[in-house]
Amino acid sequence: MVKEVSVLKSKTDELAELDKKHFIHPTSAPKKGAQDGPDIIFSDGQGIFANNLEGEAYIDGMSMLWNVNIGHGQKELAEAANEQMLKIAYSSAFKGFSNVPAIKLAEKLASIAPGDLNSVFYTSGGSESNDTAFKLSRFYWSLKGKHEKKKIIAMRDGYHGVTQAAQSATGIPTTHEFAGASVEGFYHATPHLTNCELGDKNDPNYEQSIRYLIEKEGADTIAAVIIEPVQGAGGVNIPPEGYLQAVRKLCDEFNILFIADEVICGFGRTGKMFGVENWEVVPDLMCIAKGITSGYSQLGGVMISDTVREAIVNYEGVMAHGFTYSGHPTACAVALKNIEIIERDGIVENAKAMEKEMQKGLAYLEEKHDIIRNSRSIGLLAAFELYNSATGEHFDPSLQAATKVVDECFNRKLILRAIGDFRVAIAPPLVINKQEINDMIHIIDESITAFKKTI
Ligand code: PMP
Repeated sequence: MVKEVSVLKSKTDELAELDKKHFIHPTSAPKKGAQDGPDIIFSDGQGIFANNLEGEAYIDGMSMLWNVNIGHGQKELAEAANEQMLKIAYSSAFKGFSNVPAIKLAEKLASIAPGDLNSVFYTSGGSESNDTAFKLSRFYWSLKGKHEKKKIIAMRDGYHGVTQAAQSATGIPTTHEFAGASVEGFYHATPHLTNCELGDKNDPNYEQSIRYLIEKEGADTIAAVIIEPVQGAGGVNIPPEGYLQAVRKLCDEFNILFIADEVICGFGRTGKMFGVENWEVVPDLMCIAKGITSGYSQLGGVMISDTVREAIVNYEGVMAHGFTYSGHPTACAVALKNIEIIERDGIVENAKAMEKEMQKGLAYLEEKHDIIRNSRSIGLLAAFELYNSATGEHFDPSLQAATKVVDECFNRKLILRAIGDFRVAIAPPLVINKQEINDMIHIIDESITAFKKTI
C-alpha cells in the first residue's frame, strides 16, 4: 500500500514537471505555473467529488467552471458519446449536411427553452455563443434595413468570455487589460439600477444606466443589450425583483434585441431550467453552453426567437457564419443524454430544494463569523464576501483575503473560487444532497477560522 502511494506520488511529480515545461494554462499566472506546476492533477471523479492522481477526493464546490451540473463520473454520458462515436463521431453541418443528434437536440432545446425560442445555432462554447449572438443581432437589423444598429450594451461586472467580441462585452476591467482586447462598439452600463432602467433621470446614477446609454448613443445605433440573468464570474450578483422585466420593456421600447447570457444559469443552476424563468422574461436570443453537456463534451448554442428566425430564414444569401464543430454529432448526443438525465432525475428540482440548505449554511457562517457578510444565493449559485470587522470595510486588496480563504478550503479538500479580492463563489454540482452541503459549510467554517488566525 505504502509502495503504491509512493509510485502514484512519483507519477504526479513526473507529470507536474511535464506540465511546467509544456502546458500554458488558460486564465492562470504563467510564471507561477512554469515555476510551481499545477496545484492538482485530476484523475477521476464521482458525483460531487473530483479525485487527484493519488486518489484523494476533493469536493468540487464549483462544478469545476460552473458547468458539471449532473456531477462527475456519469457513465450514461460516456456511453452516449461512445455509441455516437462508433456510428459517426463527426460530420459537418454546413449547407445541406445534417445529423441525427443535432436535429433531435434542436427539437429538445426548443421544447424546454422559454417562450418562442424555438431554433438553435450551435457553437462549441460560451464565448462563441456570445460572438454569434452579437453577429446575429447585427445581421437581423441589417435584414430589417437598419444597417446602423450595431452597438452592444453590456453590464459592468458581466462576464461573456474571451474571444475578442465576448471579451469586449465583458465588464470586468482586468480582462480588458489583457492584450488590448477591446473592439469597438461595446458599452457598459451599471447593472441593477432599477430606477434608472425605468427612466428616473433624477437618480444620481442615471448616467450609468442602460436607458442613459441608449439615449446618448441613439437607439438607431444599438443592436442589442446582453445580460447574464445572474452575473457569475463578476461576483454572483442576483438582480433585484423587476430588474430583468424592466430591461425587457426598455428593449421593446427602443427596438433593441435582448440577449440573455445563460452560459452559467442555464440547465438548472438557479433552480429553474433557465435563469430568466425566475423572472418570467423571454429574451430574443439566449446563449447557452456549459451545463448543456455538464462539461462532458464541448458544446454551446444560441437559442433564437421566432421573430428573429423569420428574418433569418427569409434571407436568400449565404450566412457567412459557422464553426467546424457547429452541431457536432457526439457533443449533441451527449447533450441529449444530459438533458434526459436532468429531467429524469429531477436535477433542477434538487437545485431548487437545496437552495434552502445553502441559504441556511450561509446564514450560519454569517452568524458565526463577523468577517462574512453579504452572502447570497439562488438555486445552487452562491457567494459570500469577506469584511474587515474592525473597519466594517472589505479587507485591503493587498491581503488577498478571498484567495487565502479559498486556499484554506483547498487544503481541506474543498474547491471554491475567489472572485477578485474579497468574494468567494460556491456552485456545486446540482446533484449535491443536504449532508454534502453541510460538509461543505463545515469546511468553510474551519477555513475561515484558520484564515482569521493569520490576520
Ligand atoms: N458567458 C458566461 C456567463 C460565462 O460564465 C462564461 C465562462 N465562464 C462564458 C460566457 C464563456 O464561455 P466559454 O469559456 O465556454 O467560452
